[in-house]
Amino acid sequence: MLEMLRKINMSRAVRTMQELFPEEYDFYPRSWILPEEYQLFATQIRLIKEKDAAVNPTFIVKPDGGSQGDGIYLIRDPADLKLVVGSQAKQAVVQEYIPKPLLIDKLKFDIRLYVLIKSLEPLEIYIAKEGLTRFCTEPYQEPSQKNLTHVFMHLTNYSLNVHSGNFVHSDSQNTGSKRTLSSVLYRLAAKGVDIKRVWSDIIALVIKTVIAVVPELKVYHQADIPPGKPGPTCFQILGFDILLMKNLKPVLLEVNSNPSMRIEHEQEVAPGVFEFVPSPVDEEVKVGVIRDTLRLMDPFHKKPVTSSQDKSREDIQMDGDPDSRSPDENQPSLCLKQVYPKYTKQFNHLRLVERIASLFIRFLGVKGNMRLGPTAFRTFIRTCKLSSSNFTMASVDILYIDITRRWAAAAADSREAGMGLQAFVEAFFYLAGRRFRSLSLRGQVVSLLELCEAQLGPQSEDRRSLSCGRAPQPRAVKTQTPCLTYSQLASPAPQRRAASQDNRPLQTLKPRTLRASVEN
Ligand code: ADP
Repeated sequence: MLEMLRKINMSRAVRTMQELFPEEYDFYPRSWILPEEYQLFATQIRLIKEKDAAVNPTFIVKPDGGSQGDGIYLIRDPADLKLVVGSQAKQAVVQEYIPKPLLIDKLKFDIRLYVLIKSLEPLEIYIAKEGLTRFCTEPYQEPSQKNLTHVFMHLTNYSLNVHSGNFVHSDSQNTGSKRTLSSVLYRLAAKGVDIKRVWSDIIALVIKTVIAVVPELKVYHQADIPPGKPGPTCFQILGFDILLMKNLKPVLLEVNSNPSMRIEHEQEVAPGVFEFVPSPVDEEVKVGVIRDTLRLMDPFHKKPVTSSQDKSREDIQMDGDPDSRSPDENQPSLCLKQVYPKYTKQFNHLRLVERIASLFIRFLGVKGNMRLGPTAFRTFIRTCKLSSSNFTMASVDILYIDITRRWAAAAADSREAGMGLQAFVEAFFYLAGRRFRSLSLRGQVVSLLELCEAQLGPQSEDRRSLSCGRAPQPRAVKTQTPCLTYSQLASPAPQRRAASQDNRPLQTLKPRTLRASVEN
């Protein structure tokens, strides 16, 4: 999970989903991966500024392995990027900065929401009904060259703001620099905000994000726990960091794989004397998350009846929902609320990459393997009958080498040779484009999946019905995504992907995300 949710990996996973479902995945800010997409970033920004001199967007730069705001800075000019540390190129994500967040008491804040992944197969997701909000400690102003370095104004991290002289530790849940999410929502409701809508948008963001990362998680998972063998029961509590824009649209900032579960904070009780004192707000939120998680994961616990598709609703409900099942039938529903499979019907069509991952895993073969070798790739092509006189096995080999080499260059730290899932997804998109030129990218991918799954027979069908359901019928759209040629393939894959973000005007950005650890 830690690997998967690193900022670069997460950006890539969401970007793949943005290619397939641009409208559904508009909750993640446009992002570029450094250093490999530096040129692309610089060119795109130059073009935007040339087109309209009045536009002067701001960007936030986040180091790949960073957390708690460490190493984060804002820029307005690509020339201000710090690309190298010592002699090493710095791996980072540069992301469109959301200039107009929702403010409370003139302060920027973000939401920390706890999400339990109870199971990967079948996918089960629970969201904590109560969360935290973390406030900045300096009144917000839209970014300008003068205020770019004001971290207490722009970054909501607790770990940073706690050191500003203005941080307020409060025993009350609705004042201070850390408050409960419900207190903020009630306050918004009092101002006439439709908080049910906000909450259902947040649930949708969480489910979609999990759907984006599940395919690769399954690859990691099968490497440790091969299919057919009963694995250990595992689960993960994730910390989602979400920003509300002024127009109330939630934006995903990142996902932390190891969120802090501390319920106390350090306080200077006498000059120079520090003690840990209870933090009622943290306690209010986190104790419920842990308690419900333990109840749900208890191996002796009677398994609750899982929601089936026919119970899912058209609308995502907020609270008081009769379908909302308690983790323990004898206990009131305290905190964690199941959202998947409950809302399967609304989101199952998004699980396309997971079906590609099922194919990938099927051809991986050897236990513990996470990458496809050239022979396995050939076997995939042959078994699914994807070669022809126009696309010979020699072309298949060239495709394999080309894509694998570029992805190896992009992931400089990778020691394993072969084709990883993200590279395989790229190859799959390419093959789909060749075969079904007249369809949209999504239509191409759905069609190729159906073709492959039909060739592979019942095992694949079973897997699909178990975990993925059926995707919607492809819509015939005139070459919206042109079929790639080999020369296009020769441009770095990640660049092509970033380039596919081009069509969106910068300011309408509807964010997309990522990870962390410890107290944020
Ligand atoms: P870290 O893992 O270091 O905490 P985050 O991605 O959470 O990194 O970013 C740190 C803080 O920066 C966030 O809590 C948020 O306040 C602010 N932030 C991050 N991304 C954006 C963005 N795209 N637009 C506006 N603010 C952002």
